Amino acid sequence: MKGESIALRAAGMWSGDALVEDVLVSIEGDRISGVFGTRGGEEVFEVTPGSRAGKVGPEGITCDDGWRTVDLGESYLLPGLIDCHVHTVFSGDGSDIHRGLAPDRSTLMLRAAENARLSLNSGVTTIVDVGAPGEVIFPLSRAIDEGVIRASRIIAAGPPVTITGGHLWPMGGEADTVDEVVTMVRRLMRDGAGILKVMGTGGGTPGTNSFVPVYGEDALSAIVAEARRLNRRTLIHSGATAATRAAVRAGFDVIFHGHFHRSDGTLSYDEGVVSEMVEAGTRLNPTLWVNRVLGEVARREAEEGVRGAREMAEYRESRYRAQAENVSRMFDAGVRPLMGSDSGWGHVGFSDGLFRELKSAAELGFSASTLLDLVTRGAAEFLGRSDLGEIVPGATADIVASPGRPWEHIEEVSTINFVMMEGEVYRSPFDEGR
Ligand SMILES: [Zn+2]
Repeated sequence: MKGESIALRAAGMWSGDALVEDVLVSIEGDRISGVFGTRGGEEVFEVTPGSRAGKVGPEGITCDDGWRTVDLGESYLLPGLIDCHVHTVFSGDGSDIHRGLAPDRSTLMLRAAENARLSLNSGVTTIVDVGAPGEVIFPLSRAIDEGVIRASRIIAAGPPVTITGGHLWPMGGEADTVDEVVTMVRRLMRDGAGILKVMGTGGGTPGTNSFVPVYGEDALSAIVAEARRLNRRTLIHSGATAATRAAVRAGFDVIFHGHFHRSDGTLSYDEGVVSEMVEAGTRLNPTLWVNRVLGEVARREAEEGVRGAREMAEYRESRYRAQAENVSRMFDAGVRPLMGSDSGWGHVGFSDGLFRELKSAAELGFSASTLLDLVTRGAAEFLGRSDLGEIVPGATADIVASPGRPWEHIEEVSTINFVMMEGEVYRSPFDEGR
């Protein structure tokens, strides 16, 4: 059986935009069975029918024999975090994608498993993998669900649907015509894709062009229709305004990156596309840190005296400033965000990727509580997983804890030192240093 009966005590709990103080959360098996404490001075007593945790008197809750009590003292509980954009087969160590994809599939599987473990260790209990070979990511995701290894739960897209020779083609998602993309989407869903990812332009893969759309609206609409038939969300990578426009009109749920490149490579913010996104409810995954870190890496190289690095740092930093300004304008205009770190890609690692992304977003003006809500309840709602993202009776027991108050200071996400997934304690401050 997964998990035992655990009574988790802490100074407080932040979930669903509310703080419960002096909290006790009861966990039976892999589910939360009760939440007890005070909210705004009022007593909280929420429990699932049939729970073994009971209220015995004015002194409060008791959990009888057979319960293990974990007292986290002055820490605060949060729902397990959700990262909606990762690539577990890549290392996030700056190596290029050919190196990343060169090993045989077994090596990729081991790397992906290790990255999912690092992710869980950091407090991210659910990751959405939006680009990996199907024969690697689908079996790994199933193995984690079955408890074969302990690592973040993976909702996997498998290989992105891409044109022949397009961005990330070595992963196996090549499809060109309307008929071919429909067949590819059906195959992916058959094999285990919980979500669909499409490459709407080229990207970091050599020999591809980030500024030009690769699919027409007919192919994109066919993909969305096919995904919706089996209730899957649709995500599209886009580096070009024209590709974003076609994707919004086709009904995609999320634009990844969303850079406003024209076909000649120049950047130009497009109010028309942004208002179409707002109207259609299309979200933006802004991928801030993956670009921002490039400037920091070049800066470090410049300090080490690497030739040309200072010019590169200045160029990267100005590119990032332009991107950050465009992203801010989109959110100010009413585009809804979907947060994801792009961990694995470029220089974004799994131990701090989401934290870095949230910190970059905070600098654009997002409040800590808004960001925390986006990576818990908001992401769960987007994924159609009502059992995740909140600490409420009946929910899956994915709970993390920080000695700080991350809903006030998002930096405190990096101090998470307790991680429970599906009722099992994976990491605890009492184990540290052992
Ligand atoms: Zn990515």
